[in-house]
Amino acid sequence: MVYLDHNASTPLAPEVAEALARALSTTLPTNPSSVHATGRAARARLDTARARVARLLGCEPREVVFTASGTEADALAIKGSWLARPEPHRTRVVTSSVEHPAVVFAAQQLKALGATVTEVPPAPDGQVPAEALLAQLGPDVALCSLMWANNETGVLQPVAEVARAARAAGILFHTDAVQAVGKVEVSLRHVDADLLSLSAHKFGGPAGVGVLVVRRGVKLEALSAGHQEGGRRGGTPSVALAEALALALELSQQGLAEMAGRTAALRNRLEHAVLERTHGARVNGTAPRVPNTTNLRFDGIDAETLLIALDLDGICVSTGAACASGTLQASHVLTAMGLQPKAARSSLRVSLGPRTTADEVDTAVDALVRHVTRLGLGAAAA
Ligand code: PLP
Repeated sequence: MVYLDHNASTPLAPEVAEALARALSTTLPTNPSSVHATGRAARARLDTARARVARLLGCEPREVVFTASGTEADALAIKGSWLARPEPHRTRVVTSSVEHPAVVFAAQQLKALGATVTEVPPAPDGQVPAEALLAQLGPDVALCSLMWANNETGVLQPVAEVARAARAAGILFHTDAVQAVGKVEVSLRHVDADLLSLSAHKFGGPAGVGVLVVRRGVKLEALSAGHQEGGRRGGTPSVALAEALALALELSQQGLAEMAGRTAALRNRLEHAVLERTHGARVNGTAPRVPNTTNLRFDGIDAETLLIALDLDGICVSTGAACASGTLQASHVLTAMGLQPKAARSSLRVSLGPRTTADEVDTAVDALVRHVTRLGLGAAAA
């Protein structure tokens, strides 16, 4: 199998799998809220995991809130901060039209609570222009949410600039960094966000655990009852999953620059080969991107058909957009970039991982070129 769908989920790093298996094989209860010795031991382990995450992200341990997913972290950031906003006259939420559904859905839910949501579209290259976003940051805005990197195109967004401007205007700034962690350096030392979401299964950790960083002084109303995570998230946390996330984060940071260079070279090799060997293929999202992602368009070819053909060859890629009842929906990200729905439905996301090899890339290219030629676009003359 050639797995090129790392933006959907990454394989567990072997060290994480081993540590997780060890942690889960103990039969000791691990409720960090229990006051007895077993509970105190669990609390110590959870606090250690929290401190490791904080050190890597450049924040304080008490600012790290463990959640069950990136989706939950996004929902808690957006809805929790809205419910606790200190200035109720601020009723607008500014975001982009290329956010992940986790953010889109949470922002839409706020409408029922009286919020107005402004979605700023990207340029055709996939990047939301900072000046267009900044132009929206008025005194009525409570929260601005902009993703660090897009999950479908990999395009990096101007988070540092928008964070600075939002905070200067007294507006909370949230960034969904789920697709950035493990691909580019993500640190609150460089991007001064109030709230930042991440998810372990996107960087070699297990599914079922994420983090929301909540900077000191940011008020947040919990969305579930309970006193855990400093009163910001109810529910007994999983010590084993928190430790696995911390380890995966540490591993993903080791040799990050070298890994990013190698991955970008392989991604570029794949892109160049496909563009060279087929007629009319295009790359969606030409702004600076994370190193592992490419979104390729084959006009006139149904991407779902292509995806299934590749799957039969043992090659895993994705369309990046939801597939509802057997019909591929046109991606809201690609249509926001100006693509017609038909062109969006002809687009395929290929996302590499740190262990992807040149052989795997070449196998995927050969299969892609073969199917694309068979399904419609002619092969380019050699
Ligand atoms: N945000 C982005 C940008 C994502 O790509 C994803 C997952 O694909 C999520 C949030 C949701 O993360 P999780 O799968 O942990 O709920």
